[in-house]
Amino acid sequence: KKITIAIDGHSSTGKSTAAKQLAVKLHYVYVDTGAMYRAVSFFALSENLIESGQLDREKLVERLPEIKISFVYNKETDRADVYLNGKNIEKEIRTLEVSSIVSKVAEISEVRAKLVEQQQAMGTEKGIVMDGRDIGSVVFPDAELKVFMTAAPEVRAERRYVELVERGDDVTLDEVLKNVIERDHIDSNREDSPLIQLPEAKLLDTSNMTREEQFELLVSWAEAAIEN
Ligand code: C5P
Repeated sequence: KKITIAIDGHSSTGKSTAAKQLAVKLHYVYVDTGAMYRAVSFFALSENLIESGQLDREKLVERLPEIKISFVYNKETDRADVYLNGKNIEKEIRTLEVSSIVSKVAEISEVRAKLVEQQQAMGTEKGIVMDGRDIGSVVFPDAELKVFMTAAPEVRAERRYVELVERGDDVTLDEVLKNVIERDHIDSNREDSPLIQLPEAKLLDTSNMTREEQFELLVSWAEAAIEN
Protein backbone atom coordinates (compact mmCIF):
# COMPACT_ATOMS: atom_id res chain seq x y z
CA LYS A 1 0.00 0.00 0.00
CA LYS A 2 1.19 3.53 -0.76
CA ILE A 3 0.43 6.45 1.52
CA THR A 4 0.66 10.24 1.72
CA ILE A 5 3.22 11.68 4.13
CA ALA A 6 2.93 15.29 5.35
CA ILE A 7 5.95 16.88 6.99
CA ASP A 8 5.41 20.30 8.55
CA GLY A 9 7.34 22.36 11.04
CA HIS A 10 9.49 25.35 11.82
CA SER A 11 12.04 26.94 9.45
CA SER A 12 15.40 25.25 8.90
CA THR A 13 14.64 22.13 10.92
CA GLY A 14 16.00 19.87 8.20
CA LYS A 15 12.52 19.06 6.87
CA SER A 16 13.48 18.94 3.23
CA THR A 17 16.60 16.82 3.77
CA ALA A 18 14.67 14.31 5.88
CA ALA A 19 11.66 14.30 3.55
CA LYS A 20 13.85 13.80 0.49
CA GLN A 21 15.74 10.90 2.13
CA LEU A 22 12.49 9.26 3.17
CA ALA A 23 11.06 9.58 -0.34
CA VAL A 24 14.16 7.96 -1.86
CA LYS A 25 13.96 5.08 0.63
CA LEU A 26 10.26 4.45 -0.06
CA HIS A 27 10.49 5.15 -3.83
CA TYR A 28 7.99 7.95 -3.34
CA VAL A 29 7.74 11.37 -5.00
CA TYR A 30 9.09 14.25 -2.93
CA VAL A 31 7.70 17.79 -3.17
CA ASP A 32 9.30 20.82 -1.47
CA THR A 33 6.44 23.31 -1.16
CA GLY A 34 8.68 25.97 0.42
CA ALA A 35 10.43 26.17 -2.95
CA MET A 36 7.11 27.18 -4.52
CA TYR A 37 6.56 30.07 -2.07
CA ARG A 38 10.19 31.03 -2.66
CA ALA A 39 9.61 31.00 -6.43
CA VAL A 40 6.69 33.43 -6.09
CA SER A 41 8.90 35.62 -3.87
CA PHE A 42 11.67 35.52 -6.45
CA PHE A 43 9.17 36.64 -9.09
CA ALA A 44 8.12 39.57 -6.88
CA LEU A 45 11.76 40.57 -6.41
CA SER A 46 12.71 40.30 -10.09
CA GLU A 47 9.61 42.21 -11.19
CA ASN A 48 10.31 45.02 -8.72
CA LEU A 49 7.14 44.43 -6.74
CA ILE A 50 9.13 45.09 -3.58
CA GLU A 51 10.39 48.55 -2.81
CA SER A 52 12.58 49.19 0.21
CA GLY A 53 11.33 46.02 1.82
CA GLN A 54 7.68 46.87 1.15
CA LEU A 55 5.77 44.28 -0.88
CA ASP A 56 3.07 45.47 -3.29
CA ARG A 57 0.51 42.78 -2.49
CA GLU A 58 -2.13 43.98 -4.91
CA LYS A 59 0.25 44.02 -7.86
CA LEU A 60 1.52 40.57 -7.00
CA VAL A 61 -2.00 39.15 -6.79
CA GLU A 62 -2.85 40.79 -10.12
CA ARG A 63 0.16 39.17 -11.76
CA LEU A 64 -0.23 35.70 -10.25
CA PRO A 65 -1.61 34.23 -13.50
CA GLU A 66 1.79 34.95 -15.10
CA ILE A 67 3.53 32.63 -12.65
CA LYS A 68 4.10 29.02 -13.71
CA ILE A 69 6.03 26.85 -11.29
CA SER A 70 7.35 23.41 -12.16
CA PHE A 71 9.85 20.85 -10.89
CA VAL A 72 12.43 19.22 -13.13
CA TYR A 73 14.66 16.34 -12.07
CA ASN A 74 18.37 17.23 -11.89
CA LYS A 75 20.67 14.25 -12.50
CA GLU A 76 23.68 15.87 -10.85
CA THR A 77 22.07 16.60 -7.50
CA ASP A 78 19.54 13.75 -7.69
CA ARG A 79 16.72 16.07 -6.75
CA ALA A 80 14.10 18.20 -8.44
CA ASP A 81 14.99 21.80 -9.22
CA VAL A 82 12.29 24.43 -9.12
CA TYR A 83 11.55 26.33 -12.35
CA LEU A 84 9.77 29.64 -12.78
CA ASN A 85 8.28 30.13 -16.24
CA GLY A 86 10.71 27.65 -17.73
CA LYS A 87 13.83 28.99 -16.00
CA ASN A 88 15.77 27.06 -13.37
CA ILE A 89 15.84 29.24 -10.24
CA GLU A 90 16.90 26.62 -7.69
CA LYS A 91 20.00 28.58 -6.66
CA GLU A 92 18.37 32.00 -6.66
CA ILE A 93 15.59 31.06 -4.25
CA ARG A 94 17.88 29.97 -1.41
CA THR A 95 19.33 33.41 -0.64
CA LEU A 96 18.69 35.34 2.57
CA GLU A 97 17.09 38.06 0.40
CA VAL A 98 14.35 35.65 -0.66
CA SER A 99 14.12 34.20 2.87
CA SER A 100 13.54 37.66 4.26
CA ILE A 101 10.37 38.26 2.22
CA VAL A 102 8.97 34.79 1.64
CA SER A 103 6.84 34.67 4.79
CA LYS A 104 5.17 37.93 3.82
CA VAL A 105 4.40 36.55 0.37
CA ALA A 106 3.07 33.36 1.99
CA GLU A 107 0.57 35.38 4.04
CA ILE A 108 -1.37 36.31 0.90
CA SER A 109 -4.47 34.12 0.55
CA GLU A 110 -4.51 34.26 -3.25
CA VAL A 111 -0.90 33.02 -3.36
CA ARG A 112 -1.74 30.16 -1.00
CA ALA A 113 -4.86 29.18 -2.95
CA LYS A 114 -2.90 28.97 -6.18
CA LEU A 115 -0.06 26.90 -4.72
CA VAL A 116 -2.27 24.61 -2.64
CA GLU A 117 -4.27 23.75 -5.77
CA GLN A 118 -1.11 22.78 -7.62
CA GLN A 119 0.16 20.78 -4.61
CA GLN A 120 -3.08 18.84 -4.32
CA ALA A 121 -2.96 18.05 -8.03
CA MET A 122 0.58 16.67 -7.59
CA GLY A 123 -0.65 14.40 -4.80
CA THR A 124 -3.67 12.82 -6.40
CA GLU A 125 -1.69 9.60 -6.55
CA LYS A 126 -0.47 8.14 -3.26
CA GLY A 127 3.23 7.58 -2.69
CA ILE A 128 4.18 11.15 -1.96
CA VAL A 129 6.19 12.95 0.73
CA MET A 130 5.45 16.67 0.87
CA ASP A 131 7.03 19.16 3.25
CA GLY A 132 5.90 22.65 4.21
CA ARG A 133 3.82 24.44 6.85
CA ASP A 134 0.22 23.52 6.01
CA ILE A 135 0.51 20.11 4.40
CA GLY A 136 -1.17 18.11 7.19
CA SER A 137 -3.68 20.84 7.97
CA VAL A 138 -4.75 22.10 4.53
CA VAL A 139 -3.14 20.36 1.55
CA PHE A 140 -3.60 16.72 2.66
CA PRO A 141 -5.70 16.63 5.84
CA ASP A 142 -6.22 12.90 5.21
CA ALA A 143 -2.50 12.08 5.05
CA GLU A 144 -1.83 8.71 6.69
CA LEU A 145 1.32 10.03 8.37
CA LYS A 146 1.81 13.57 9.66
CA VAL A 147 5.07 14.75 11.19
CA PHE A 148 5.85 18.03 12.93
CA MET A 149 9.54 18.93 12.95
CA THR A 150 11.13 21.46 15.26
CA ALA A 151 14.44 22.28 16.96
CA ALA A 152 15.88 25.04 19.13
CA PRO A 153 16.20 28.27 17.07
CA GLU A 154 19.94 28.53 17.73
CA VAL A 155 20.53 25.01 16.42
CA ARG A 156 18.49 25.73 13.29
CA ALA A 157 20.19 29.05 12.61
CA GLU A 158 23.61 27.48 12.98
CA ARG A 159 22.77 24.73 10.47
CA ARG A 160 21.34 27.19 7.94
CA TYR A 161 24.27 29.56 8.45
CA VAL A 162 26.79 26.83 7.60
CA GLU A 163 24.80 26.00 4.45
CA LEU A 164 24.72 29.62 3.28
CA VAL A 165 28.42 30.19 3.96
CA GLU A 166 29.26 27.00 2.06
CA ARG A 167 27.38 28.45 -0.92
CA GLY A 168 29.50 31.56 -0.65
CA ASP A 169 26.79 33.87 0.71
CA ASP A 170 27.91 36.84 2.76
CA VAL A 171 25.78 36.50 5.91
CA THR A 172 26.23 36.55 9.67
CA LEU A 173 24.92 33.99 12.14
CA ASP A 174 22.93 36.73 13.82
CA GLU A 175 21.14 37.70 10.58
CA VAL A 176 20.24 34.08 9.96
CA LEU A 177 18.97 33.61 13.52
CA LYS A 178 16.81 36.73 13.25
CA ASN A 179 15.37 35.50 9.94
CA VAL A 180 14.55 32.05 11.32
CA ILE A 181 12.78 33.55 14.35
CA GLU A 182 10.91 36.12 12.26
CA ARG A 183 9.68 33.54 9.74
CA ASP A 184 8.43 31.24 12.52
CA HIS A 185 6.59 34.15 14.02
CA ILE A 186 4.88 35.22 10.79
CA ASP A 187 4.15 31.62 9.73
CA SER A 188 2.57 30.77 13.09
CA ASN A 189 0.49 33.94 13.40
CA ARG A 190 -0.87 34.56 9.91
CA GLU A 191 -4.60 34.43 9.39
CA ASP A 192 -4.67 32.00 6.46
CA SER A 193 -3.44 28.48 7.25
CA PRO A 194 -1.02 29.26 10.07
CA LEU A 195 1.62 26.74 11.02
CA ILE A 196 0.15 24.62 13.80
CA GLN A 197 1.18 21.46 15.57
CA LEU A 198 -1.70 19.09 14.88
CA PRO A 199 -2.59 16.72 17.72
CA GLU A 200 -2.30 13.72 15.39
CA ALA A 201 1.15 14.72 14.10
CA LYS A 202 4.22 12.90 15.38
CA LEU A 203 6.67 15.30 16.96
CA LEU A 204 10.27 15.21 15.75
CA ASP A 205 12.52 17.54 17.73
CA THR A 206 15.87 17.42 15.98
CA SER A 207 17.79 19.65 18.44
CA ASN A 208 19.87 16.77 19.73
CA MET A 209 19.52 14.28 16.92
CA THR A 210 21.83 13.34 14.07
CA ARG A 211 20.42 13.07 10.55
CA GLU A 212 20.75 9.29 10.82
CA GLU A 213 18.69 9.18 14.01
CA GLN A 214 16.01 11.39 12.46
CA PHE A 215 15.90 9.22 9.38
CA GLU A 216 15.61 5.99 11.39
CA LEU A 217 12.68 7.33 13.36
CA LEU A 218 10.91 8.65 10.25
CA VAL A 219 11.32 5.33 8.46
CA SER A 220 9.88 3.44 11.43
CA TRP A 221 6.85 5.76 11.54
CA ALA A 222 6.36 5.46 7.79
CA GLU A 223 6.57 1.66 7.89
CA ALA A 224 4.02 1.50 10.70
CA ALA A 225 1.67 3.84 8.80
CA ILE A 226 2.02 1.81 5.61
CA GLU A 227 1.21 -1.43 7.43
CA ASN A 228 -1.73 0.04 9.24
O1 C5P B 1 10.39 25.44 3.72
P1 C5P B 1 11.02 26.79 3.44
O2 C5P B 1 11.77 27.33 4.60
O3 C5P B 1 11.79 26.83 2.18
O4 C5P B 1 9.75 27.74 3.23
C1 C5P B 1 9.90 29.11 3.00
C2 C5P B 1 8.70 29.87 3.52
O5 C5P B 1 7.55 29.59 2.71
C3 C5P B 1 8.24 29.56 4.94
O6 C5P B 1 8.94 30.34 5.90
C4 C5P B 1 6.76 29.92 4.90
O7 C5P B 1 6.59 31.31 5.08
C5 C5P B 1 6.37 29.60 3.48
N1 C5P B 1 5.69 28.31 3.34
C6 C5P B 1 4.34 28.25 3.63
N2 C5P B 1 3.65 27.09 3.42
C7 C5P B 1 4.27 26.00 2.97
C8 C5P B 1 5.66 26.03 2.70
C9 C5P B 1 6.34 27.21 2.91
O8 C5P B 1 3.75 29.24 4.06
N3 C5P B 1 3.56 24.88 2.75
